[in-house]
Amino acid sequence: MSTTPSENPKPAQNPANTGQGAAPGAAKSAAPAPGAPRPAGAAPAPGAPRPAGAAPAPGAPKPTGAAPVPGAPKPAGASPGAPRPAGAAPVPGAPKPAAVPPGAPKPAAPAPKPAAPVAVKKPIEAKPKTSGGRPKIGEILLGLGLIDEQQLFEMIDEARSSGKKLGSVAVSRGLVNEDQLVKALAEQSNLKVGNLNEQKPQPEALLVVSETMASMYKVIPLTLKDKVLSVAIVDPNNLTSVDDLRNLLGLNEVIPYLVSPSAFEEAQKKCYAGKEDSIADLIQELEADGTKGRRKNETSIDLETLMEQADSAPVRRLINMVFLMAIRDQASDIHFEPFEDDYKMRYKCDGVLFELPPPPKYLANAISSRIKVMANLDIAERRLPQDGRIELTIGGNRVDMRVSTLPTLFGESAVIRLLDKSVVSLDINKLGIDPVVLASFRELISKPNGVVLVTGPTGSGKTTTLYSALNELNVIEEKIITTEDPVEYEIEGLVQCPINHEVGMTFAAALRSILRQDPDKILVGEIRDLETAQIAVQAALTGHIVFSTLHTNDAPSTITRMRDMGLQSYLINACVEGVLAQRLVRKICANCREEFSPGPDQLLELNLTPEMVAGKKFYYGKGCDICNNTGYKGRMGIHELLVMSDELRDLISKEASTDELRDLCVKSGMKTLRWSGLNAIHQGLTTMEEIIRETVTEE
Ligand SMILES: [Zn+2]
Repeated sequence: MSTTPSENPKPAQNPANTGQGAAPGAAKSAAPAPGAPRPAGAAPAPGAPRPAGAAPAPGAPKPTGAAPVPGAPKPAGASPGAPRPAGAAPVPGAPKPAAVPPGAPKPAAPAPKPAAPVAVKKPIEAKPKTSGGRPKIGEILLGLGLIDEQQLFEMIDEARSSGKKLGSVAVSRGLVNEDQLVKALAEQSNLKVGNLNEQKPQPEALLVVSETMASMYKVIPLTLKDKVLSVAIVDPNNLTSVDDLRNLLGLNEVIPYLVSPSAFEEAQKKCYAGKEDSIADLIQELEADGTKGRRKNETSIDLETLMEQADSAPVRRLINMVFLMAIRDQASDIHFEPFEDDYKMRYKCDGVLFELPPPPKYLANAISSRIKVMANLDIAERRLPQDGRIELTIGGNRVDMRVSTLPTLFGESAVIRLLDKSVVSLDINKLGIDPVVLASFRELISKPNGVVLVTGPTGSGKTTTLYSALNELNVIEEKIITTEDPVEYEIEGLVQCPINHEVGMTFAAALRSILRQDPDKILVGEIRDLETAQIAVQAALTGHIVFSTLHTNDAPSTITRMRDMGLQSYLINACVEGVLAQRLVRKICANCREEFSPGPDQLLELNLTPEMVAGKKFYYGKGCDICNNTGYKGRMGIHELLVMSDELRDLISKEASTDELRDLCVKSGMKTLRWSGLNAIHQGLTTMEEIIRETVTEE
């Protein structure tokens, strides 16, 4: 189906050519230095110092004694009602004018929201100092005698107009120093104050908390003793991260110490300096002390040894590091694969697998057991496939990991699918569908009944497209029921049923029951067999709109595929309203994009001639730090929409071939996948190679 990729005009960009060098996060230095500030859009800047006053000053502190100024516009970012302060970075320094002044920002204006007592959910008790909430930072500074009332007034003014935190205003005005502010913030949050000059990060703590982990969780590990870890943090609201870290590492307790941003930054630079955080190093270590537990005959390993190995610190560290790196690089899948002579770990970013340095083969059992333990699977069962899930929370973002194990010739293979719910925005406008095509698709999905299909190979973003559609249709007046395998996105307002083959809850069975639940719109994860197809058709014919997916290469072949399944042509004609075929292609990295002129040979691969592309532009990515030298960053969809017409129905009832159907579609104006791809090329969104790889030649 796909043709061979053309000679790349810049061989270094093609990850296939660069091999290891391009692996994101591989030890080869192509990886972004974990301590370095990350490009926008990537994982949250790890060590980014935030303004010292990061505490959610709940409502502007009111000057004591003076008439209450309840409606006082708060410094930006300090939203008092924010239910979950931690992790959600409080927009440091964002120069937005003081938050929501309804009408005139005069203090005289009636209070729209009198400083609500902050209900901060955290594992520590709020100090019973002021009524209900935490004491305000201004009051604490006042109470410590560091500022007077007049100064507080002026500070509030500045915080208001500049959008800065009150604390950082106090520091910038020279009223308090960083240490004094840290003390005040610590008092406010009931935290301990750290001193990084005295509390040096200890080797055993650094060993457990890798650099990647430290930067993602925004901590500096200090000491580790008896499963109690102490860490330095800057943001007093970072306590959920501290909790997550405790879970991830399986510790009894993690004690946070509050330190100033500058001290944090300085220590962060020092503690991992020269010790680049790499899987390669960790693996070297593993190999060095790998004498124990190394056995030639793996079948002789008993359960106890397996448990012990799975729980051993190096294996835990290795798995944690792989997970964190994969999440940081927004990988979609992680593969752990045993082969005869080695053990491979790879992860997929933007549809391309990157290999990590391989761990020693003798760890194969320990690694798969560790993953199984984390996913609550039966580690004694190594002869049957198993499915499970792991949930990690990093910086307040939940990452759902679907684990699937499979016994293979050389041991157990484990594949983990990462569903980072924070990354996906289910917005139909952001799928990259051509505006004209999108308009027709919208028309299709708003029909009261019929079947609308989205097709493409696995991993072509079908589910995301359907969910974006459902998200748009999700209104209280209509009932939407879905059945999926697995449920990939949880959407409020939808009734979602997971498939469970073990107990006989198949798509067909689920669909049958769904019809008795009075739905208006139905999503069936996939039509795999005639039975499911028939029930879907029946649902459509009885006044429901049914969305589903099919594995086909393009829109016209979907019709023939359904016929091959055994569905009669008249039924297809009666209910199918449209088919959207799609592919995901990698987007050119915006940071290193360059124009170039392809030669006639390259054009030929897309069936183009120089005349046809006169005046059209072509681009590629040169490769840079932001894209790990791949020249690509992110993915987008290309689409082909078949809308049912009378002529098409005629052809279908005559049992026409895929080619005949396609000819008619193109004649009547269907924009093909190839067309959509060329469009994306000329807009500078993707490369010729991507389109050649993902679309077939039509002639
Ligand atoms: Zn780039």
